[in-house]
Amino acid sequence: MRLSRPRTPLCILQEMRAALLPPARVYLDWVLREGTPRPPSTPGPPDLFIGLLPHGPDRPPHPFTVSWLRELQLVQFQTAPRKHLYTLMLHTFHVPTLASHPDTKWRDLLPPLEGEEPQWASLYSTLVPRPAGDISWRLLHGAVSTGVYLARFTPIPDTCPFCGVRETLAHVYLECARLQPLFRLLTNILLRFWLHFSPHLLIYALPVHGAAKSRDLLVNLLLALAKVAIYKTRVRRLADGVSCDCGAYFRSSVHSCPRAEFLWAVSTDSLDAFEEQWALSGVLCSVSPSGSLRLTL
Ligand SMILES: [Zn+2]
Repeated sequence: MRLSRPRTPLCILQEMRAALLPPARVYLDWVLREGTPRPPSTPGPPDLFIGLLPHGPDRPPHPFTVSWLRELQLVQFQTAPRKHLYTLMLHTFHVPTLASHPDTKWRDLLPPLEGEEPQWASLYSTLVPRPAGDISWRLLHGAVSTGVYLARFTPIPDTCPFCGVRETLAHVYLECARLQPLFRLLTNILLRFWLHFSPHLLIYALPVHGAAKSRDLLVNLLLALAKVAIYKTRVRRLADGVSCDCGAYFRSSVHSCPRAEFLWAVSTDSLDAFEEQWALSGVLCSVSPSGSLRLTL
């Protein structure tokens, strides 16, 4: 259609307008006056915030509860990470139990010194083999077998298989006379790292600090291997009745770690990194000028 004259489109528009129904004509006038209406904005879901349930007044939470709820803040539901939601749900379901449950039995058996806290992360620090970390973790939770505990369910005596004293958790891992040579050995080793060995250090582990990270990692490995030695020699004694020296077991475990790491370092040409970690201060081992490994213990 050719619209050469301005009157032609004007006439067409007038005719079209006249053909509209009155409501449509009102709408057209409104559009020409106000502009094209925008679609109504659809509001999104309202902001939801989730947090912990309030504790009942009859069950005050333990000051060192295993529940993380006391540390959780209100979070926006739409943007909360999945792990956070999972933790919140898990702890909410079990809050009556968790809120009155202490994080470790050792707070009563071996009260932490001022400023001391269980170093849960150190139990699984870099050098510690996973099974050794598991035993340390179970011990800190008090989830290892003892004669006193087993005697409730089985006909076995509740006495220590080594010395005949009533076998409590503290006796198995701290007080039995058979442990003294192992503790003296640990004392001597840790002194060379400028640390004082103590029952607290054995149970609660050493926090890993950036400035002394190599030393702290080695010490946590030694502490973990000591607990494994105590655990394994007791199990063997109960199973076979043989007397196994936990100090000798500990030495053997300590020797095997740098030996395996040394072979790996030689094969990957990374002896410098090996010396930096494992031959620290020559306490556990050293590397001779000819490139062979010397075990110190
Ligand atoms: Zn004993």
